[in-house]
Amino acid sequence: MAERRGIRANAAISLLLLFCLFPPPASAIEASNRYRSPRNPERKIRRSTELIVLHTTEAPARSSLNKLSDRGEAHYCVTEEGRIYRIVDRDREAFHAGRSMWRGKEDVDKFSIGIECVGHHDKPMGTVQIAAIRDLVAELKKMYGIPDERVVCHSHVAYGAPNKWHKHRHRGRKRCGMLFAMPSMRRALGLKSRPAYDADIRAGRLIVGDRYLNNVLYGRIDTMIGKTGGSRVPVRTPKPASGGWFSKLIGGKGRPPDPTPEATRAPGGKSAAAPPPKPAIRKNAAPGFAVTAARPRSAAELKALGYEVKGTISRQRTAMKIAGRAWNRSDTYYLIRGKVVSGDKVDTSKLWPGVSIWMRKK
Ligand SMILES: [Zn+2]
Repeated sequence: MAERRGIRANAAISLLLLFCLFPPPASAIEASNRYRSPRNPERKIRRSTELIVLHTTEAPARSSLNKLSDRGEAHYCVTEEGRIYRIVDRDREAFHAGRSMWRGKEDVDKFSIGIECVGHHDKPMGTVQIAAIRDLVAELKKMYGIPDERVVCHSHVAYGAPNKWHKHRHRGRKRCGMLFAMPSMRRALGLKSRPAYDADIRAGRLIVGDRYLNNVLYGRIDTMIGKTGGSRVPVRTPKPASGGWFSKLIGGKGRPPDPTPEATRAPGGKSAAAPPPKPAIRKNAAPGFAVTAARPRSAAELKALGYEVKGTISRQRTAMKIAGRAWNRSDTYYLIRGKVVSGDKVDTSKLWPGVSIWMRKK
C-alpha cells in the first residue's frame, strides 16, 4: 500500500516536472480580451485558414471596437497605439469580408482571418501601429502556414453585385485596407510578396469595377512611400483640405472611394447609419475658406452654405446626368435618407431614385 502510494507520488512529481519543462503552447499573441465578442459561442469553428485579410476601420478606435465586438466582425483589431484586441476567437468564423470571392471560392469568412486596423484605406499609418500589425501577421502566418502573398486586403476579395453602374459582378465594391497592397507598406509589414494578379478577373468571374483600386492592388501605385519611416512614434499626417489630397490621389477620376465605414456596417453587408461628421468650420479662417472646409450635415446646413438641389435621381436621370463630371467631387453632395454624403465618398449602390444632388449656387 505504502509502495503504491509512493509510485503515485512519483508519477505526480514526474508529471509536474514534465509540465514545467514542456508547458502547453501558450498563445504568442498578446491581445486584450476587453472587446471579445459576445457572438463567439454562436460562431462556427473555421474549417480552413487560407488567407489573412487586412481591413481599415475608417472610423476611430472606440466606436470601431464597440461595433466590431457587438457584431463579431473581425478576429483582431489593432489600434493606432499598437494595442491588439481579440474580437472573435481565431479558430472561429468572423463576419469580416461580406460579399467576397477568392479564386472562385465565395464567402471568404469561411477560410480567412480578419484583422481590422484603426485607420483609413488611403492614409498613412504610424510606425507603432504598423509594427503591431507586422508582429500579429507574422505570428498568424506561422500558426496557419500562410505565405506572404496570401496576406491580402479586404479590397482584394470583396466584390459587388451587378448594379446600375456595373452590369456584372465586379471587383471594387470596397477600397477597404487597400494601402496594405502598396509596396512600401508591405515592406514595412515584412511581407516580401503580394498577389500577382486577380484570378477571379482573369477567369472572367468578375470584371474590374474600380480601375484605380486595381492599379493599387496589382500595379505600381504607392502613395505611402516615405510615409512609414523608421520612427517608433506614431506619425499623424494633417487632414487634407477637402478636394485636395484625395482628389490628387484618385486623379479626380474613377469610382468614388469605399464609402462604408467598416465599423458601421450592419450584418449582411448593408451599411448602418453612421454618426454624421461634425462640421469642420475653422475659426479665424477667411470666410471663403470656412465654406470649403465645412462639412454640412443636413439640408438646412447645405442651404446655409449656399448649396441648392441640382436635381433628384430618377430612373431617367442618373447622378451623371444631373451633375455631369462633378458627380464624384468632394463639393457635390447627396442627401441619402436624411444623411449628407459628399460625391467623393458616396456609395454608388445607394444612388436610387429620390436621392437629391446638391451643388453650390452659381
Ligand atoms: Zn474591410
